[in-house]
Amino acid sequence: MKGEVILDYMEELKHDLNELISIRSVSCEGSDEPEKALDYILKRAADFGFTVKKIGNIAGHIEYGEGDEIAAVLAHVDVVPAGEGWSVPPFQLTEKDGRMYGRGLVDDKGPAMTALYCLKALKDNGIVPKRKIRIIIGAAEEIGMHDMEEYFKSEKMPDMAFTPDSEYGICIKEKGIMHLEVSAPSHDGTVLTEFHSGSAINAVPSKAYALVDCTESEDNQLRRFADAKPGEYDFIFTQDGLHIEAKGKAAHASTPELGLNIATNLIKILAANFGEFALGSLCSFIDDAIGLELDGYSLGIACSDEESGKLTVNVGRVDIDESVCRVLLDIRYPVSADSGGILRRIRQRAAIDGLKTKLIGHELPLSVSEDAPVIKILSKAYENVMGERPDLYSTGGGTYARTLGNCGVAFGPGFKGDETHIHDVDESISSEHFRQHSMICMEAISAFSI
Ligand SMILES: [Zn+2]
Repeated sequence: MKGEVILDYMEELKHDLNELISIRSVSCEGSDEPEKALDYILKRAADFGFTVKKIGNIAGHIEYGEGDEIAAVLAHVDVVPAGEGWSVPPFQLTEKDGRMYGRGLVDDKGPAMTALYCLKALKDNGIVPKRKIRIIIGAAEEIGMHDMEEYFKSEKMPDMAFTPDSEYGICIKEKGIMHLEVSAPSHDGTVLTEFHSGSAINAVPSKAYALVDCTESEDNQLRRFADAKPGEYDFIFTQDGLHIEAKGKAAHASTPELGLNIATNLIKILAANFGEFALGSLCSFIDDAIGLELDGYSLGIACSDEESGKLTVNVGRVDIDESVCRVLLDIRYPVSADSGGILRRIRQRAAIDGLKTKLIGHELPLSVSEDAPVIKILSKAYENVMGERPDLYSTGGGTYARTLGNCGVAFGPGFKGDETHIHDVDESISSEHFRQHSMICMEAISAFSI
């Protein structure tokens, strides 16, 4: 079936999408709003005559078709908080000047509702799919994706799938992600009393705070350094020590080169002024084994492959005071890398400074062959609408497709050059791109059915 078929459903689709966006399904522990959004879309599907199934209170699916194989579209209906400063009301669908706005419109309620209407279009046209087509809906993607962990405990993994929760073209490789904590039993520095930087392990810290116990001449030396770099470092002097507040530039841990890591930069400056010994073994490790490097060279873990690029290291958070002494690392390794070896080398290097390494999170890499049937189907669907083949790309970011065990990939709904501001104020997409995404989704779902 041609992709344009979905255009006949645009008014109804937008009506239901507005209803879905108006449910404030912000993901946070204990809120039942995400479940309400899940219930709403499952109820609409049941109204249309589809089989629906709810798994716990955070996932479910809509199913149509026959046969043993399952082809799935994976989408989620929970959202991140709206934040302040929108130019339109965030919890409704607004269309103006050729753009559509609303929290969750792009990430990921719009794609979820679009997929449901594509299934309805198939049914209205009398097509009974030869595979079971499932639209799998999650309601906890934004808080760690445990929705799909729960879902796949009882449900079969699809044979092929895509998740419209990223950008076009087709993301066929995703780096592995390791989260580590390296810690000292207690802080053993003599000059550095406190150090705090960063809030999330998967972001480049943009603020750092240090409390230093130093002599007047050392303090003057630091002031001279601060004066030489205006704007980046604000030094605040008080009687009981030197407080330093420093600013860098935030970025996502998958692209640390876009930020300025103020944690590692400030440690380097302090180490240069006071010597590493005075900062303690944890800072010594951070400065010597990582420093300002983003590729893990001094840690002995630098590597790369052609398919997915270079390993990256992000110092996401450092906390040093009387009660805690630790650094959190976000390491993203290429699909062909040996994760066991990476972990071993970091452990060995940290042990030299008397530090302990703990693996606190690990997402395996995703890798789907360009020759896989699902890639052929999605490429064709894109080409039929856009008139050219989609790029096959790789990412260091973790998409929802990781929950699909290498049976599926991230595909749409964002287009290059269209700033969608997901997770930001004024989440939006051009009306034309929304239509194109809907047609591509229609083409893909209809190819799944034959
Ligand atoms: Zn999403």
